[in-house]
Amino acid sequence: MTKCAECGNDFDVSDARDEYRAEWSAADEEGEYDELYEGGLCGSCALSQTESNLNAGRAIMMVNGDEDYDQEHVDSYL
Ligand SMILES: [Zn+2]
Repeated sequence: MTKCAECGNDFDVSDARDEYRAEWSAADEEGEYDELYEGGLCGSCALSQTESNLNAGRAIMMVNGDEDYDQEHVDSYL
């Protein structure tokens, strides 16, 4: 068992990997658990971190005018 750096819960790295992969392979998004988190975060923390990174990326694109501007989204993630 490994301790998650985010929530402090003990978790199994292979479970976290499966959980992460199940979510992102279904969405057909790039994102390898091992590459990004290397067993440092449990599945749900890794998923929520990836999601907030994606949302922050979209917010930056909105500010730059590369994506339709959504004030609420920008306020939430930047
Ligand atoms: Zn966690």
